Amino acid sequence: MNDLTMDKIVSLCKRRGFVFPSSEIYGGLGSTYDYGHYGVLLKTNVKNAWWQAMLGRDDIVALDSAILQHPRVWEASGHVGGFSDPMVDCRTCKARFRADHIESMACGRKPSRKPGEGGECDLTEARQFNLMFKTTIGPVEETGSTVYLRPETAQGIFINFKNVLQFSRKKPPFGIAQVGKSFRNEITPGNFVFRTREFEQMEMEFFVPPAEAGRWFEHWVAERYRWYTDLGIRAENLVVRAHGADELSHYSSGTSDLEYRYPIGWSELEGIANRGDFDLKAHATASGEKLEYVDTATGERYVPHVIEPAAGVDRATLAFLCDAYAEEEVADGVRVVLRLHPRLAPVKVAVLPLVKKDGQPEVARALYDTLRSRMQAEYDEGGSVGKRYRRQDEIGTPWCVTIDHQSLEDGTATLRDRDTLEQVRVAIADIPAMLTERLAAR
Ligand code: ATP
Repeated sequence: MNDLTMDKIVSLCKRRGFVFPSSEIYGGLGSTYDYGHYGVLLKTNVKNAWWQAMLGRDDIVALDSAILQHPRVWEASGHVGGFSDPMVDCRTCKARFRADHIESMACGRKPSRKPGEGGECDLTEARQFNLMFKTTIGPVEETGSTVYLRPETAQGIFINFKNVLQFSRKKPPFGIAQVGKSFRNEITPGNFVFRTREFEQMEMEFFVPPAEAGRWFEHWVAERYRWYTDLGIRAENLVVRAHGADELSHYSSGTSDLEYRYPIGWSELEGIANRGDFDLKAHATASGEKLEYVDTATGERYVPHVIEPAAGVDRATLAFLCDAYAEEEVADGVRVVLRLHPRLAPVKVAVLPLVKKDGQPEVARALYDTLRSRMQAEYDEGGSVGKRYRRQDEIGTPWCVTIDHQSLEDGTATLRDRDTLEQVRVAIADIPAMLTERLAAR
């Protein structure tokens, strides 16, 4: 872990088709990225694992709200007034820094120093910078046509509270979960997909009777921690850090971050906040709608409090990649391997004929066809088998099946394990059921 650098992750991602810098043929657009085939598969598996953790319970329902919402949503939520970071510019080197991050940043001319420390530095006063992207509805820009790209998915949930309550027949405690893109005009994006201006979030708002908020907050901090460790993140790389009173957002009466030890140091992976009744009350006041729960049996009515686990898909994907990355001395050099949890691995199994003749490709293809209806599988017949193993190790494929001359004689093949490098001879006919079982067991 110690010698893992972000550069190694970036280069593996590019080399193996996980993530590419965006608009590359036009010289690139800073801090925007495109996910390639394996990146899409990995990211989709991360999102699916999150959905499973949410919808596997019977007290959470799903939502997919619009990215463009009524501008008053963002006034009521406090984003138009308050969603800003203090920003400092250097008149000399033209670099821009977040005023609250200066301690950990490097001067634009002398990276060994902090901004302001070099003799030539000429920093402006800190200015507030609103992080929301603006656009306009309709073909002409006119007053009243300004809308924002949502900077978080959460508000889409609050404004649908009444709709969901009516159809879902749920009563607090219950949650609404959503996954989708969010946009923030970050002042200092960077560190690969850790901080970008367009990113995906996985957020769940859990509505509870006010008296139960503390207990549910603890519950969700523990649940979310366990989700990451169950999917392979090592406990020594993940901590819960409670926010101090001076760090709390305007809406929060308690927040804990899950911090991951990225190659750039400990940084926020997910935030779990006790938002109290701030959001529902703010939208009720601004919209005139009653956003409360009424118990029809007892007549009791109250505004639920909200516990929010808010995770970033890209930051989670990056954490899983970093935690899985290993370099190992093997007989013929150093092997790079992604020890991804099999549930997250983009490809579960690769089928490789040892040679491209003697009927081996046909047997391999037949097995591949059976396997791919059950799990993400790959068929690869190009190059030496060693190189093909290397490639599968680097994309994190847990199992490889090699078909050789013996396969045609006795119907067996070699099953290679990514982590132990153990190779065992198994009956080809047993492989689909065996791997399906192994995947389900994890
Ligand atoms: P930070 O302090 O790093 O800016 P934040 O506290 O503003 O993050 P939240 O508003 O709590 O972040 O958003 C919830 C989650 O969304 C974060 O924990 C992170 O995983 C993800 N996220 C937020 N901003 C970005 C971004 N610019 N790029 C990628 N992911 C992000």
